[in-house]
Amino acid sequence: MNTTQNNDLAARDAHYLWHPYTQHKTAAPHIAIQRGEGALLWDDKGKQYIDAIASWWVNPFGHSNKFIADAIYKQLTTLEHVLFGGFTHEPAIQVAEKLKEILPSNQQKFFFSDNGSTAVEIALKVALQYYYNKGKKRTKIIAFENAFHGDTFAAMAASGISFFTEAFSGSLIEVTRIPVPVAGQEEASLDALKELTKTNDYAAFIFEPLVQGAAGMVMYAPEALDTLISTCKDNNIFTVADEVMTGFGKSGKNFACDYLTAQPDMMCLSKALTGGTIPMAITTFTQELFDGFYDDDVNKALFHGHTFTANPTGCAAALASIQLLQQPEMQANIQRINQQHLAFQAKIAQHPRIKTTRVLGVIFALELKTESKESYYGGLRNKLYNYFIDKGVILRPVGNIIYILPPYIISDELLSEIYETIASAIEEVH
Ligand SMILES: *Cc1c(COP(=O)(O)O)cnc(C)c1O
Repeated sequence: MNTTQNNDLAARDAHYLWHPYTQHKTAAPHIAIQRGEGALLWDDKGKQYIDAIASWWVNPFGHSNKFIADAIYKQLTTLEHVLFGGFTHEPAIQVAEKLKEILPSNQQKFFFSDNGSTAVEIALKVALQYYYNKGKKRTKIIAFENAFHGDTFAAMAASGISFFTEAFSGSLIEVTRIPVPVAGQEEASLDALKELTKTNDYAAFIFEPLVQGAAGMVMYAPEALDTLISTCKDNNIFTVADEVMTGFGKSGKNFACDYLTAQPDMMCLSKALTGGTIPMAITTFTQELFDGFYDDDVNKALFHGHTFTANPTGCAAALASIQLLQQPEMQANIQRINQQHLAFQAKIAQHPRIKTTRVLGVIFALELKTESKESYYGGLRNKLYNYFIDKGVILRPVGNIIYILPPYIISDELLSEIYETIASAIEEVH
């Protein structure tokens, strides 16, 4: 068969491709997207979709964004890539200088990698090796229940969504989980942490600040996190804010940590960093952490790197994205979406099928009442997903939780269409 003459992309895909989080035996044929513009995508049959989750939270400024594309083109035709071992370049330096301006003031050193999981991997390795370099035995990590930090081994160990990680449970670094301090659970969470501080076993506490994305946009208050962070500081446990999802405006501020009084020791950034164009991540550190590796002894260095570390083209995309984020119009968009979410919440929250609703920044989530706990990829979840796709709205419910996380440039009209589709799903999908 000459596949290039077969225009059925889903069929050609099925010959060779293995998709993420997919049971291929039961999955529907994959939808072939051919074009994107702003908050919209079009498939190979010409059907239009609203990208209501910014393509897994990466795309705040719209698909095929010309400003970022121009920056990438300019960089590609100047210096597309150069190794970062022994060499440096202006785009990487500029990204660091720019981030220094907008991150919590204690973040001082920046390490580039390629995705959220590696950003987390690096943070956890730095915490463990910091103590190793000092000759201290702190080898365990603290994380929240139902956390998601990525799919590589250390990130997976820190993640608490069990069916994602079950198969590897014997091979993971040791992680102890504490309850998420959602309303009513603040004390239980703090008590559990305090219990762990009685030993000197723990190197770091990693958390998704204020919103647990993959758990279904589970939200908790900054005051609760402040208390946990300061408890860790008092006990020499490094804190890692995984802002891979929340970073770059999603929470209504540049970073979810901007709601805090305390400052984390490390931060993980990726997803929206390059406006959804080029895979890139950055782990950021305090001077203290960097100094734990700074020594005449070469063995104390951080022996971690990736071939594409600080790729100049990715850096150019990141710089353009941060410029877009800082435009007053973009900040106004974030506030506009937040207001629309709050209005929709007020309208729908009392519906008899709805258990709870929550909003932070551009994130809206509602939880449907169910008889039993709906599983992550359960029956109701699949019916809802298919209903939304049929209506041309890309939403990926997590169990019985429906959430919206749109690109910031989405129009009020398209936002209303998303709300109406969700409202009708609540009436029609059982
Ligand atoms: C998506 C995500 C990750 C993993 O990022 P990848 O780029 O998919 O490896 C890690 N942490 C959080 C909070 C995320 O949302």
